[in-house]
Amino acid sequence: RLHNTILELKGNIRVFCRVRPVLPDNDSSGTDGAVVSYPTSMETAGRGIDLMHNTQKYSFTFDKVFNHEASQEDVFFEISQLVQSALDGYKVCIFAYGQTGSGKTFTMMGNPEIGEQKGLIPRSLEQVFETSQSLQCQGWKYKMQASMLEIYNEAIRDLLSPGRPGSLEANAAVNKQYSIKHDSGGNTIVSDLTIVDVCSIKEVSFLLQQAAQSRSVGRTHMNEQSSRSHFVFTLRIFGVNESTEQQVQGVLNLIDLAGSERLARSGATGDRLKETQAINKSLSALSDVIAAIAKKEDHVPFRNSKLTYLLQPCLGGDSKTLMFVNISPESSSAGESICSLRFAARVN
Ligand code: ADP
Ligand code: MG
Repeated sequence: RLHNTILELKGNIRVFCRVRPVLPDNDSSGTDGAVVSYPTSMETAGRGIDLMHNTQKYSFTFDKVFNHEASQEDVFFEISQLVQSALDGYKVCIFAYGQTGSGKTFTMMGNPEIGEQKGLIPRSLEQVFETSQSLQCQGWKYKMQASMLEIYNEAIRDLLSPGRPGSLEANAAVNKQYSIKHDSGGNTIVSDLTIVDVCSIKEVSFLLQQAAQSRSVGRTHMNEQSSRSHFVFTLRIFGVNESTEQQVQGVLNLIDLAGSERLARSGATGDRLKETQAINKSLSALSDVIAAIAKKEDHVPFRNSKLTYLLQPCLGGDSKTLMFVNISPESSSAGESICSLRFAARVN
């Protein structure tokens, strides 16, 4: 396929930008959404994005820019090859980065009840299971394992933990450490983390529901809180070909990052300040790591955050990384949008 050839030439890090539509109930900042311009013609995707802020024009170019009309299917079409490569034995990471409300969760998870609004995670899983089935007639047998965790304030929470799922108190009570190690085979091992064998899309969908419930346990402001943590879905794929005895081990990581908005305002104290510092730290660590990999630097500072240390074996090397930068179109978000686009430009 042509687009795959282009990707190979570009190296293993790609950045896609997605601008969400102006939401119907958003009347506070006008409904023009005119601060952002991008491909508006027949195409729902191009490569450039322009943004006006304080009479100044900011222009950026990415591997792909999806406008407000791009459907979930349009977006998935552009990443399906990448998902496929996890079945071929690659380690793949797909991130969604952006301020709260910019469409990260919509892009990753979407609305699974409304077919056309299904996001990348359910679509990727459907493809993985369908393809692995159809490869059976070529002698391939696959085994898949799923885990789901959240990183909040630089601490890992198991979202599939049996018992009282996801509760920090419960985890502490049973003395779970969730420490991260890497084995000699280049795999990440998180102690005490629940790993579930999955054989069908139904089973994973059930786990995703369970994880969503765990995320909201014990939280007063659920949406607010979930936007302050990173959600990491990991599917490990083990394939063996019974006729050729070939073996592959791929990993698919799908990550809905914490909101990137700069929360640090004078006056933020206590828990809020700690939260903010943890998010800032891990997002800038992620940007440092991806930028170092892109520039092929000798030293990549993986150890500066839980997130980068967790994903270390799946970043760099011959692994494949895709970053979505999600953008809100409202003029009130222009400042944050420029920050997000700069972040993305740095790793591109
Ligand atoms: P985030 O996860 O970045 O905080 P959300 O994904 O929750 O943002 O999106 C905020 C709101 O915008 C949600 O109501 C979501 O359904 C809606 N939304 C986001 N992107 C799109 C899109 N491409 N099309 C339609 N609605 C969208
Ligand atoms: Mg979200």
